[in-house]
Amino acid sequence: MRCKMRILKLLFPSVIFSTTAAGIHLTFDDGPHPTATPAVLGMLRERNIPATFFFLGQNVQQYPDIAKQVVSEGHQIGNHSFTHSNLFFKDKQFIQKQIIQTEEILESKLGIRTRFYRPPYGYFNLTLLNLLEEFGSACVLWNIDSKDYRLKQRSDVERRVLNRISNGSIFLFHDNNHTAHKLHTYLPGLLDKLLEKKLVFKPLQS
Ligand SMILES: [Zn+2]
Repeated sequence: MRCKMRILKLLFPSVIFSTTAAGIHLTFDDGPHPTATPAVLGMLRERNIPATFFFLGQNVQQYPDIAKQVVSEGHQIGNHSFTHSNLFFKDKQFIQKQIIQTEEILESKLGIRTRFYRPPYGYFNLTLLNLLEEFGSACVLWNIDSKDYRLKQRSDVERRVLNRISNGSIFLFHDNNHTAHKLHTYLPGLLDKLLEKKLVFKPLQS
């Protein structure tokens, strides 16, 4: 994804988000989730680490109090569509609805508007990028995919993450059904190792 992101950034400089400023960015996709999100929040709070959560509109609708807690603890929020559909082959009307419905629910439940959008599965097309440009939003991909949803061992996640860090790295994690039961096996240890490296954690900033 790292090379792909550089090329995309060259092609679509105004819409694809990237930075080489000092610091790393932890991002958590698919929440709010009734157990995974509070667990992640606790681990971040204990270590005073800020992160960015890409919410699904349908989950904010279902778990608004958890979403509010994420905001009140000072984390950044991004839009991850409403239903987590692959938008690659979808038309403008469908894509627009996925983004706007989520923005509306974020505004009504949390009183916020987002500047960051992450496409489900990382799939996007020109229609989506044009819409984001219209909305003044950035498309946020990632450089480091933890593959937390499918790796079985803590060491697998650590190996994927720890060797690839550079300034501006964007890490992809998930707070969803696939990770809820195993977050505690890899995330606290991984966060501690990142802290040991004296890295500065930053939420995404526009
Ligand atoms: Zn997702």
